[in-house]
Amino acid sequence: MPELPEVEITACLIGSATAGATVESALTPGINALKTFDPPLSALEGATVLGMRRRGKLFLLDFDRNLTAVIHLMSAGRLQLFDKRATLRDRTSRLLLRLDGERELRLREFGTRQRAWVKLLRTPEVEAEETIAALGPEAWPDPPAFGELLRAPRPLYALMRDQHVIAGIGRSWVDEILHAARISPFKRGTDLQEDEAARLREATVARLGEVIAHYGQTIALPIPDKLPMPLTVHRRHGEPCPRCGDRLEAVFYEDYVMCYCPTCQTEGKLLKDRRLSRLLK
Ligand SMILES: [Zn+2]
Repeated sequence: MPELPEVEITACLIGSATAGATVESALTPGINALKTFDPPLSALEGATVLGMRRRGKLFLLDFDRNLTAVIHLMSAGRLQLFDKRATLRDRTSRLLLRLDGERELRLREFGTRQRAWVKLLRTPEVEAEETIAALGPEAWPDPPAFGELLRAPRPLYALMRDQHVIAGIGRSWVDEILHAARISPFKRGTDLQEDEAARLREATVARLGEVIAHYGQTIALPIPDKLPMPLTVHRRHGEPCPRCGDRLEAVFYEDYVMCYCPTCQTEGKLLKDRRLSRLLK
C-alpha cells in the first residue's frame, strides 16, 4: 500500500514532469472512480496542469481554471505517467488524463477490490473536502510534538496509522518507525514518557526523510507498478534485527502482519499472535 514516502516521490516526479501540460481529454473507463459530478470531468479539457501536491496519502493535482483533482489510491492504486496512450481495454485503468505530446496520466488499480477514487473540486474547496478536512497533521517533514499528538489510551500501532491523528503512515512504515524509536507497538499513547515521545517524533521524521531521499536517488519515471520499498523490519519476521541481530517477530492479523524486535522494543516479551489466539478461543 502506498504511504507517505511513496505518494511523496510520485507527486514530485509526476508533478514536475506534467507542470505546464495541457489536458486533451479526461476519461474514467470501466468502474467509475469519480465521486463528484460538479464540476464535470469535461471541465478539464483544455486545462493546464499547474503541479501536484501531497496531503497525507492523497494526491492533489492542480489545474488552472481553479480546478483540483483529489486522488486517493486506497490499498492497490497507482498513479503513473506513460508516454503512449492506453487502450481502453486496460482493465486496471480508473482515470485517464490525456495530455499533449501523446502522454497520459493514468490512475490504475490492481487486485479485485475497486476502491481508489477521484474527486474533481474547485481549488478553494479542497481543504473542506471531507477526507482532507479530517486529516491530522503531516507526519513529515515537521510534525508537532508527539506527546500531545498521541495522547490517547490506544496502542501506538493503531494511533500512528490513524489518519485523523497523524497523516501519512500506514502498516509498512509504522513498523519501521516504532523499531527505529525502540518502542513497543502496543504501548499506549497515554503511557508515552516525554523522552519516548521525542524519540518517536525524531524516528518518524528521520525514517520517512531517509526513504524519500532514497526514492529520489533510485526511482524515475515511469513509476514502476510496484515500488521497491527499502523495508528493514516490516515483513522481515524470522530474519535478524538490523540493530541487535536477534530474531524479528510478528503478530499476524487477518490480512496483514505487524513486525517488531522483542529485544529492541518489548524488553524481550513476545506479543500475542492475534490469529492464533482467536483460533484457540
Ligand atoms: Zn533488535
